[in-house]
Amino acid sequence: MGRAYVIEQVEQEDAKPTRTVELRDVPDASLPDESVTVDVEFSSVNYKDALVLTGKAGVVRSFPMVAGIDLVGVVAASSDPDWTPGDRVALFGDGLSETRFGGLAERARVRPDALVRVPDHVSSERAAAIGTAGYTAALCVLALEHGSLASGAVQPGGLPVLVTGAGGGVGSVAIALLAAAGFDVAASTGRVDELGSELRRLGATSIVDRAELSEAGRPLATQRWSGAIDSVGGQTLATVLSQVEYGGTVAACGLAGGPDLPATVMPFILRGVTLAGVNSVEAPLALRQAAWDRVTSALDLDLLDSLTATVPLADAVSAAERVLAGGVHGRIVVDVRA
Ligand code: NDP
Repeated sequence: MGRAYVIEQVEQEDAKPTRTVELRDVPDASLPDESVTVDVEFSSVNYKDALVLTGKAGVVRSFPMVAGIDLVGVVAASSDPDWTPGDRVALFGDGLSETRFGGLAERARVRPDALVRVPDHVSSERAAAIGTAGYTAALCVLALEHGSLASGAVQPGGLPVLVTGAGGGVGSVAIALLAAAGFDVAASTGRVDELGSELRRLGATSIVDRAELSEAGRPLATQRWSGAIDSVGGQTLATVLSQVEYGGTVAACGLAGGPDLPATVMPFILRGVTLAGVNSVEAPLALRQAAWDRVTSALDLDLLDSLTATVPLADAVSAAERVLAGGVHGRIVVDVRA
């Protein structure tokens, strides 16, 4: 038996179904029949978690569901040969909180296919602070570097690499990882006055007001960026594509500003720009492991601490409301045992 945030769908006669979100006890017998049982220590509140915990549609695909796309804890029991009781593990995405019970729970039973080991030098709390956001930022950096190997663009010393949604979880970690790799980083935010110096502390060398990127411009604009990591989508992504230099790569992972893409093919066919999609949920284990190794070895963990607030399990919903209201910078970790 352990506490968990359970999401249920309630059918309505003449209207769309509604959702309930309840922190309640879930017996072990109700957990899925998977090979690895984990005593969860920490989870986190990502953008997707914020949607789920506030009862929004679009993430959970089967009911009842346990919320939480991230999970960090200790293996309690395992019938899988790769994992033994006492191992510290992390699981990000892989359908958690969508089609598989997630990590905002004291106990979880998970499949082993996407589990990664938490290295000794990383505490469980810090592993959750990295979470989907940090692991996705690392996937984006790998995509950028992979693109640059092919084209020769995105070299340290070249035009800056732009990070959009810079004040968010993905954006903040992306800035720190890019700066650690020697890139000149430009950070785009809607909170220039509030976060400008903080984003510089993470490693950004220039700050761009996001309003500059949210207006439609010419299909090919002045080349300002050697590449970009975009968690905003919409007009912002279209504008960024029009401003990337010849051969540059844009890693697109999010839709904080909208799911549409009002762009033209011009950046692709006249500047050889690559749009690299990043999906952390379905990433195969080898790519997951590469991103996890990168973020746990390259990220300054003291810097990560300064970006992280930890809340007890009972406060996860109010944290989610703050995320959707745009009032959060960085990462929110949930201590599920508190
Ligand atoms: P956060 O809520 O932490 O950050 C999102 C940031 O986007 C905000 O801090 C804000 O930055 C900016 N933003 C918010 N609304 C708008 C808007 N209307 N227009 C422009 N910018 C806006 O979210 P995460 O960092 O956790 O996630 C970011 C995005 O990436 C989300 O869409 C999420 O779903 C997606 N994502 C995708 C993954 C994948 O596998 N593809 C994995 C993880 C996340 P600022 O205040 O600095 O402007």
